[in-house]
Amino acid sequence: MRSPQWHPETLAAHCGVGQDLAYGSVSTPIYQTVTYQHPGENLGQYDYSRTENPTRHSAQEAINRLDGGAGALLYGSGMAALTALVHMLHQGDHVIVTDDAYGGTYRLLVDVFAKFGIRSSMVNTRQLDAVERAFTDTTRLVIAESPSNPLLQVSPLRALAEMAHAHGAKLAIDNTFMTAVRQRPLDLGADFAVYSATKYMAGHNDVLAGATVCRYAEDYAQLNELTNATGSILGPWDAWLLLRGLKTLAIRMDRQEANAAAIAAFLARHPRVQRVFYPGLNSPEQDALQKSQASGTGAMLSFVLDDPNRYIDFMNALQLILPAVSLGGVESLITHPFNETHRELPEEVRWQLGIIPGLMRLSVGIEHVDDLMADLDQALNSLS
Ligand SMILES: *Cc1c(COP(=O)(O)O)cnc(C)c1O
Repeated sequence: MRSPQWHPETLAAHCGVGQDLAYGSVSTPIYQTVTYQHPGENLGQYDYSRTENPTRHSAQEAINRLDGGAGALLYGSGMAALTALVHMLHQGDHVIVTDDAYGGTYRLLVDVFAKFGIRSSMVNTRQLDAVERAFTDTTRLVIAESPSNPLLQVSPLRALAEMAHAHGAKLAIDNTFMTAVRQRPLDLGADFAVYSATKYMAGHNDVLAGATVCRYAEDYAQLNELTNATGSILGPWDAWLLLRGLKTLAIRMDRQEANAAAIAAFLARHPRVQRVFYPGLNSPEQDALQKSQASGTGAMLSFVLDDPNRYIDFMNALQLILPAVSLGGVESLITHPFNETHRELPEEVRWQLGIIPGLMRLSVGIEHVDDLMADLDQALNSLS
């Protein structure tokens, strides 16, 4: 039906297009219904919207095509997607997770799943020997993020996939920061690509959503059953908003990435900035690794203020960039990971990981880059 040779830009623009069998409407309609009239004595294609809904189905198909999977599922949030994934495990199983993963992933494993007997270890997934040592007889899942949050560190995804499979474990990549238009985890050997679709995929800071794309049909079938059983699905309005956002994913990412690369270089030269973290401005090894597994460097960056005690003054001085958590939307947002996104981590762990009080995380939007740089420059200079 659809050419697999299409570029990501083309696939994105056509998300949800050609899916309406009733009237051929170009935009997928919002099927705001819970239940469906039976065509005869048997149920039809759809019977109950927790199980499946045409709008959600269309969005799932679009996301599955972008990632090249065997099937995709959509959830009410990224955390719901991760929860359903961990639900595939059994009591006594062990999970390895990237040490500077999203704070909520850590909280889910430690505060929720630990009490059901699922153990987890936080490991530096940039160091393969450390990952190798962390495997136990019961390790069934590795969850890696690359580039990581908030330090934008790149993990060797192909090697992680090989290692996980050698130990009989599955690999899930949280691909929220890159999305399928920059990095396709399943092509790199991962079993699952997991997303907070709230971020770049939806892209407008107006909808919470999560997605999981499965490489194998049997995993998809199992996850689909689990999702129907637990019920954390995405509603039709939100699925429609997500489809609407996905159509511009590729061009938003192009603009946001170009802005971010220019801002990272600008900050690296700024006297009030101690250090910048950006894939493309990290070490030569890290940058080469990013190039080998992704087609770009993304639009997230972090930097360390010269004076860590002035971060509140700095955020207050910004006039354009909004101090707010979340990321990936068209508006530029800045956060203070130490006190905001990563406060779930024990303080000593934050220090150990380099999530220090002077660290700022910037999600670069689609504004004019000169306006963004001028805003950062005046706020940084106000600290002198
Ligand atoms: C935001 C985020 C999540 C959680 O997603 P929600 O949609 O907020 O539930 C998971 N992983 C990463 C990398 C994120 O940025």
